[in-house]
Amino acid sequence: MTHRVVLIGHPVAHSFSAAMQQAAFDALEIDARYELWDRRAIDLPAAIAELRGEDFLGANITIPHKEHVVPLVDRLTEEAQATGAVNVISREGKKLIGHNTDVPGFKVALDKLVGRQKMPRHAVVLGAGGAARAVVCALITEGFQRIVVFNRHLHRGEALVKHFNRSAAHMDLRAMPWHESVLEAELSKTKLLVNATALGLVAGETPIPGELLPPDLMVMDLIYNPPQTRLLQDAISARDTVLGGELMLLQQGARAFELWTGKAAPIEAMQAELERVREQGLRQVPIDMGPAGNAADPAATPATETATPGAAK
Ligand code: NDP
Repeated sequence: MTHRVVLIGHPVAHSFSAAMQQAAFDALEIDARYELWDRRAIDLPAAIAELRGEDFLGANITIPHKEHVVPLVDRLTEEAQATGAVNVISREGKKLIGHNTDVPGFKVALDKLVGRQKMPRHAVVLGAGGAARAVVCALITEGFQRIVVFNRHLHRGEALVKHFNRSAAHMDLRAMPWHESVLEAELSKTKLLVNATALGLVAGETPIPGELLPPDLMVMDLIYNPPQTRLLQDAISARDTVLGGELMLLQQGARAFELWTGKAAPIEAMQAELERVREQGLRQVPIDMGPAGNAADPAATPATETATPGAAK
């Protein structure tokens, strides 16, 4: 039986996960196929129920479903519970287990960014979606003393802060309105900026004008395609320490692979495939648009479209 792993999101067309995970299955000669399922929120419960079938090893969950999927699984790991977001589902018999491998993936990337410098204690996080939750969770456990979250819709930032009420009781975690003057004041007091929004996926787009970036700021952009977003380009020109999202993608993906297969991930094969994709572009993978026919939804990406920079993990 060929096993199946699926990426569930909306859209999914531009994900690098399919290429990376298929390369890992092939490298270890595991008979498994990684599929792309484009599902709107209304079709999410049915898609998750399908994963209970014997042929499934599990799934990746991506934009915008990481929080919605929480009540649909049977059990959450500690990290998924702590973040309130799930990016990986594995199976134990018919039971579905929700994990969050973005948290350890981000930690590896943070260590690389900080390098030999002292780990900062104050961070500004842009975004309040599933990825931002993983970032905040990791920063809290890393011992940060002040984390300020800016989000386009302030109420979502406030909901994130409320979610971490207990684990952040010893430190200062707050959501602030996204106004340039407020951002500028906060950035002048911080050493670390993390972009966990989708702003930057489109070339030239940036969440923060370059002139607001102080010169000694470390900047991580979770976006991995393009590999160097406008935010990172602006930060580099001010001689900051910067890192794009590819290392986190690789690390969260390696942990997901291990949860599905019980085998050590072939990191080198996965990394080599990411490099190939960056240089040559994605090979076209058929997209299952679901029962509701997302093709009719203007927000969905047509199945026939070839790979270009995009949002899904
Ligand atoms: P969600 O859909 O859960 O959240 C999206 C976030 O982006 C929200 O904070 C949203 O703000 C913000 N946003 C979207 N469009 C705009 C806009 N036009 N202006 C301002 N803010 C905007 O997605 P995720 O949290 O799962 O993913 C966020 C990003 O992180 C994506 O780019 C994804 O590719 C990347 N990512 C990378 C990973 C990696 O391994 N490198 C892992 C996970 C994610 P609002 O709430 O106001 O709508």
